[in-house]
Amino acid sequence: MPEVVSKLTDFAAGITAIDADYVRPRLAASHLVIDAGRAAFVDTGTTHSLPNLLGALAAKNIDPADVDWVLATHVHLDHAGGAGALMQALPNARCAVHPRGARHLAEPSKLIAGSIAVYGRERFNSLYGVIVPIPDSRLFVAEEGTVIALGGRQLELIHTPGHALHHYCVVDRAHELIFSGDTFGISYRDFDVDGREFIFPTTTPVHFDPEALCLSVDRLMSYRPRAIYLTHYAEVRDLARLAREMKERVRAYADLGQRYAAAPDRALRLRKSMFAMMSAWLDEHGFPRDDGERHRLLDDDIELNCQGVEVWLDRK
Ligand SMILES: [Zn+2]
Repeated sequence: MPEVVSKLTDFAAGITAIDADYVRPRLAASHLVIDAGRAAFVDTGTTHSLPNLLGALAAKNIDPADVDWVLATHVHLDHAGGAGALMQALPNARCAVHPRGARHLAEPSKLIAGSIAVYGRERFNSLYGVIVPIPDSRLFVAEEGTVIALGGRQLELIHTPGHALHHYCVVDRAHELIFSGDTFGISYRDFDVDGREFIFPTTTPVHFDPEALCLSVDRLMSYRPRAIYLTHYAEVRDLARLAREMKERVRAYADLGQRYAAAPDRALRLRKSMFAMMSAWLDEHGFPRDDGERHRLLDDDIELNCQGVEVWLDRK
């Protein structure tokens, strides 16, 4: 228990961010939401994250039988890779998934193959371990606008394409907050400067769609949230600025892709230029650390984002 407590960050409205221990500290979160003794997880990390999630329940005195929902915002494995293993530990939970994602959780072989194509088999195993399928009977297919109950609160599940076609976000109108998965981008706490948050898009293969993503950001902001909880990582509050920068940066990624679309060394140029562009954003933001630290914090995302931009270019 003591070591799990260091991985928890408590927020208002019964929300706790749990470090999924994915790749490095504070890279990916699962959010635990507690209301009137009932609980939900929003995103689950990977199978390796399970001890932290169950440790968080113990720390909050919640019995696994009192967890009603596992809300998988989308089926990318850093968000839902651990959902099957988690469901085995939660006897009464249902796992809510977008209609386009349901078959991937019930039968994860295609998801596993796709991820091995991105990462290679060895890294896949160390990142994700065993992916446990979820029986159809325990899946709840979240149609657009579905409202579910958690204790005394209502959670609205809205479809938000752009990062992935099978992505939904979780809106809690009464508390004026949203769980955004990857739709509102990435804001690592490592980049905070005097409490000021830094944001950038995640354009992971294979569904990146810049127009749809900007519309989804607008849709989230139309609920006038006071806080958004990102899987990467946890709470952000300076939402008007972050939404504006997020959309500018989505368009900047798309423009960068188009600039190099026909270049013979497209892959290399895209990666170098994306690092330079993001480093300039960090300069503007006042981030004081050097290139070595910037590469350490950004290179995995730059690789994924460039792969996603290239898939988008090839689809166009
Ligand atoms: Zn994702």
